Amino acid sequence: MVSKMQLHSVGEMCPGYLAAHNVSGMSSAKASEDYVSCETCVHWEDNRCNIDLFDKVLTSLDQT
Ligand code: SF4
Repeated sequence: MVSKMQLHSVGEMCPGYLAAHNVSGMSSAKASEDYVSCETCVHWEDNRCNIDLFDKVLTSLDQT
């Protein structure tokens, strides 16, 4: 089970993070710009990272 906190921490540390600005045509991208998290990343799909960076970044977080 992944917490919001982890999604946020991983998003901040992840080299692959790319903000998904075009979520269903919404013009107010401000909220997603401010909140870096896997949940606002274009690679986040079906509650997992579709380029498999999540586990790697999470592991490196745990080691520090
Ligand atoms: S979804 Fe994947 S690429 Fe995007 S921030 Fe999370 S771990 Fe990184």
